[in-house]
Parts: sequence; C-alpha cells; structure tokens
Amino acid sequence: MNYRKILVEYGKKLLDKKLVEGTSGNISLRGEDEDTFYITPSGMDYLEITERDIVKINSNGIPYDKSQKPSSEFRLHLEIYKNYPNYKAIVHTHSPFATAFSVSRKKIPLILIEMEPFLGGEINVAPFYKAGSVEVSKSVIPYLSNANSCLMANHGVVCCGSDIKSAFLSAEYVEDAAKIYYYSLNIGDPKIIG
Ligand SMILES: [Zn+2]
Repeated sequence: MNYRKILVEYGKKLLDKKLVEGTSGNISLRGEDEDTFYITPSGMDYLEITERDIVKINSNGIPYDKSQKPSSEFRLHLEIYKNYPNYKAIVHTHSPFATAFSVSRKKIPLILIEMEPFLGGEINVAPFYKAGSVEVSKSVIPYLSNANSCLMANHGVVCCGSDIKSAFLSAEYVEDAAKIYYYSLNIGDPKIIG
C-alpha cells in the first residue's frame, strides 16, 4: 500500500469536500507495523503536499526523517492508535457545522438512520484542552469506543476507521448530520431516533 500517495489524495479531498479551511485538519494511516504511522505535515497547503512531505513517525511521535515536521496534532493520532488497535486511519477535520456544535459543546444526537451503521450512534463532545496537548489527545479516547467519531470542544472533529475510506466517510457523515440537525433545530422540535 502506498501510504504517502493515499494521504496526498485524501488531503485534496478534505479541501474539495470543504471539511477543512487553509492548512487546518490532518489525516493519518497506521503503517506496516503497529509502531509506525504516516501523517500529513505541519502547516502545508493540501494542494502543495507531495508524497515526500508525508511524515512517517514512530510510536513515540519521532519522525524517521528528523528534518520533517508532522502535524502539530500528531499526539491525538498517536494516542488513538495506541488505544484502538482496530483503527487504521484517522481523519481530523474542522468542518463548519460539526465544529459549530463543538463550540457550543453540544452533542449531535442520533437523528439520521445512517448514523447508526456508519458512525456507531450519536456523536459526543470531548472536553476542551489546548490543541496539540497530551491532555487533548487523551480526552477523546473514551468517546471513540461506541462511535468511531467525536467532537473536540471548540476545535473540530475526529473520525476513525478500519481504512481511509471509512474514516473519510465518517467525516462526511458527521458534517452531514450536524448540518441537518442544525436546520432541524431551527425549524423546531427535532426528534431523536430510539
Ligand atoms: Zn485541529
């Protein structure tokens, strides 16, 4: 599997689908062995990232190529891979509707039938800690066992999957659910499933 190529492609998809703005967000893939993963670089335009810019890091967060700088949020990915061996890909977005719910620190309840099979249920909000900190990376862990995605307070969304396709699909479904829930709240009296 060409991890670097996949991450370059999906970085562009993040922009295309308007799940991130500027250089925000990041994506990673678990590597050949449990101790390695590949992640998008720090502060680079998704349209300019090439395969060589993708950072391969070990389980301590150290890049194999010391001259490279991984996304500042690499600890988040590290902690999730450590706690959930079943997750092989992580997509972190700042998609607008879902991030608005994270700012209001309100969960997205089970309102659409797709949410159960694709996301695992309702999407909760992990508490606020400084971006990139050890605390923020640990804070999401309890919220990723029932559902494969959660919101990070005043920050954005983190979605996990057994492969990049499913993690990316989750990122799209979380944003879709947030948007529809927002509209329904405006119309009034949204009904929760089950
Ligand atoms: Zn972020």
